[in-house]
Amino acid sequence: MTPHSRFLQHALSADAAASWPLPGGLAARWPASGCVQIDPPGDGADSVLLSCGVHGNETAPIEVVDAILDDIAAGRLALRCRLLVIFANPDAIRAGVRYQNYDMNRLFNGAHAKQPELPEASRAAELEALAAAFFAESAGRRLHYDLHTAIRGSAFEKFAIYPYPHQRAHNREQLAWLQQCGIEAVLLHSQPANTFSYHTSRHCEADAFTLELGKARPFGHNELSRFAGIDRALRRLLTEPRTEIAPLREDDLPLFRAKYDLLKHSEAFRLHLADDVQNFTPLADGMLIADDGDIRYVASGGEERILFPNPTVKPGLRAGIIVEPVRLD
Ligand SMILES: [Zn+2]
Repeated sequence: MTPHSRFLQHALSADAAASWPLPGGLAARWPASGCVQIDPPGDGADSVLLSCGVHGNETAPIEVVDAILDDIAAGRLALRCRLLVIFANPDAIRAGVRYQNYDMNRLFNGAHAKQPELPEASRAAELEALAAAFFAESAGRRLHYDLHTAIRGSAFEKFAIYPYPHQRAHNREQLAWLQQCGIEAVLLHSQPANTFSYHTSRHCEADAFTLELGKARPFGHNELSRFAGIDRALRRLLTEPRTEIAPLREDDLPLFRAKYDLLKHSEAFRLHLADDVQNFTPLADGMLIADDGDIRYVASGGEERILFPNPTVKPGLRAGIIVEPVRLD
């Protein structure tokens, strides 16, 4: 294990409230266990929520955020935004597992209320309340980046999921910023989801994104150079929030939308793709993607791709998503 900063150590220690003095008259507050908030003085500052460890074994983003906190505390990084960092699932981070009882990123948007006995559910409820309180005090932009790494490889190593914005238009400036982070593709959701980023987008009116930043590895085994793009972009956002962002190069940022879910109806479900098939692998026109008794899922048009395939889910659940290219409206 790499040495963590005192922030991550405290986040994992299960100690709650504390207030730490920082350079420049700042203070780091711990409004809940594993959550640290820093409010520099100044009117109209942007509010930036960085969450990591919603899946406990996705360590690289935890290390990136931890190092940023460490640099703020050491006076090496001059914070000019309100910042809330959430180490979302400390139990799972300590155990080095994705989750212990239930996938926390299916429990936001109020879904926790259906399974209140789960520890992940009470934590999701706590994080929802914390995000709401944080953004309620915001006078500037409201930004939330929920940082993940994926289980499997991906034809686009780094990609973003843009939660369904309902009546709001997609934010081109945010897409341009994601491009600056090294994000190579974006999935535009077209329906609600019980993820953290959908929750803050819908209920806190944040520009919120789930960022998949590469492959998950244990602490100390991450090639942090592979995360340099997001690290640099976050540091710049936090220190110079109003820096102009280069315009979106739409031709260089493939956008996708979910076309349909591969539903697993029964144990007869067979996925006709390699076990280690990468996310965003193109599906040739006419190929049999999966079958399930009499149901056949056949690729059509040659532009479809597979995302999050998982044939081992329980019957009744989604075993993958078929996505297709889309343009901004
Ligand atoms: Zn994840």
